[in-house]
Amino acid sequence: MRKPIIAGNWKMNLLQADAKALFGAVKNYLKDLSAQDLPVVVMAPTFTSLAHVEADKCQCGCGCNKIHIAGQNCHWETSGAFTGEISVEMLADAGCTYVIIGHSERRQYFSETDEMINKKAKAILAGGLVPVICCGETLEQREAGVTDTFIAGQIKAALDGLTQEQIAGSVIAYEPIWAIGTGKTCDADEANRTIAAIREVVAQVSSRTAADSIRILYGGSVNPSTIAEQMSKSDIDGALIGGASLKADSFNEIIKLTMEGMKNGAAV
Ligand code: PGA
Repeated sequence: MRKPIIAGNWKMNLLQADAKALFGAVKNYLKDLSAQDLPVVVMAPTFTSLAHVEADKCQCGCGCNKIHIAGQNCHWETSGAFTGEISVEMLADAGCTYVIIGHSERRQYFSETDEMINKKAKAILAGGLVPVICCGETLEQREAGVTDTFIAGQIKAALDGLTQEQIAGSVIAYEPIWAIGTGKTCDADEANRTIAAIREVVAQVSSRTAADSIRILYGGSVNPSTIAEQMSKSDIDGALIGGASLKADSFNEIIKLTMEGMKNGAAV
């Protein structure tokens, strides 16, 4: 059984007051819902909002502890002269349990390589956090018919040297670059097919058990009108959401529709 994950990637958006308001509105929505019925809800604020969001959590059972916090990036070293970077330990110290790595925006604008992403995955797992490893093809690659081989290369490199157990507990997010922030979602059957192909790569490089356990999310213009179909597919274990995670209404609606899908036995 793979429990779905609904993760919001806030990217470089929201000042601290807005971040607090968004976190508070989601927390409030989750308050009366049973944790058992919920997907794993993850929110990835900017670094400057992590402490506020963490401080807003409490142990009162009001819903705040139903939200997991993620970093949007990390460095693989534990500390040192790496201006502008943040370590896994710092993220954990700020309350994070997940870290997004290898997002296409980081690969594209900050020249992150597969090798760097592999080092980050190892550092995250060594620190006891969960990596959310992003992969995905460009439109040119899709049109040239090399999507599966390209992504297989990204996945093999990212998982290199990880144990079966580490892989089983990790998360992959398949995000076709042409679908990110464009309003063009990948057709749900095609997303499911690609994700199933990624799962086969995991089985090849690790084991069937790891492949059956790892959660593989879809990302790219997910919104309340796309999530139900996406979650009805066999291999899609949740979503990584950018734009639609910045508004409580749409993020909460996505959580609600995912819960409904879970009740109907979709994708879990
Ligand atoms: P989007 O972003 O939902 O705005 O397309 C997804 C992502 O980049 O993770």
